[in-house]
Amino acid sequence: MLLKEVAANTALTKSKLPSADYVVNAYTGCPHKCIYCYAEFMKKFAKHPDDEWGEFIDIKIFERIKIPKDIEGKYILISSVTDPYNPYEMEYEKTKEILEELKGLDCCVGILTKSKSVLRDMELFKQFKNIEVGVSMNTTDDDFRKRIEPRASSVEERLEVLKTLRKNNIKNWLALSPIFPFLTDYKKIIEQTKDFVDYYCFENLNLRSEYKDRVLTLIRREYNNLHKNYKAIFLYEDQSYWSDLEQEIIEYCEGNDIKYKMYFYHEKIRKK
Ligand code: SF4
Repeated sequence: MLLKEVAANTALTKSKLPSADYVVNAYTGCPHKCIYCYAEFMKKFAKHPDDEWGEFIDIKIFERIKIPKDIEGKYILISSVTDPYNPYEMEYEKTKEILEELKGLDCCVGILTKSKSVLRDMELFKQFKNIEVGVSMNTTDDDFRKRIEPRASSVEERLEVLKTLRKNNIKNWLALSPIFPFLTDYKKIIEQTKDFVDYYCFENLNLRSEYKDRVLTLIRREYNNLHKNYKAIFLYEDQSYWSDLEQEIIEYCEGNDIKYKMYFYHEKIRKK
């Protein structure tokens, strides 16, 4: 792992995401190395154009954490292009440093992770007025999880995180993201977790050029029976798959009293 400490001016940056006003990324790069990672574009901004995604991490050193003047009532997402509880957080505590500055403020903090290490900060979370912790999970099959998210926590560990958050009265959500066509069984995940999850977010798999080949190669090698379907969706841009699935999920959640948010977006999707 190529590791370096870099000076950084701002911990909170304005966000263009529909769900957040500010984002916090205390690290650049992510050792979890998920094969579909949307954040890989960060390589060129972070002066790592030729380094392999997942094999470098920049630890941001803040002189001081500046809190924006308009923070009141805002939603702060931790994190959007790294995992805030990647393995280096246990040593460097950069996410914790920022949380310490945010506690007590009149804003909502949302944490999103694939790591069991988030449980380290449970006592800190309890000091917030408004906080929620999300766990990303798109399968209950740990063999599939190992293929797509080789260094993140196991399915069982993520379930344990959600249960522990519930036991400690910290609001939680499960990000069913990204949904892999024919491999993510969203109903099975909801059935297994609905007793200890507050709400669900759904996001479709969006394959951009940097990692499209990587994902399609995995599907051809390990799930060859699905390769034709993946080619139809991702190479020939069959728009109907996602719009049908989106409708199906909405009907399922509404019919079963499941709280949910949809983040199905794809430039090629056009609703029917
Ligand atoms: S945990 Fe998130 S940021 Fe890290 S590699 Fe996986 S998808 Fe990317």
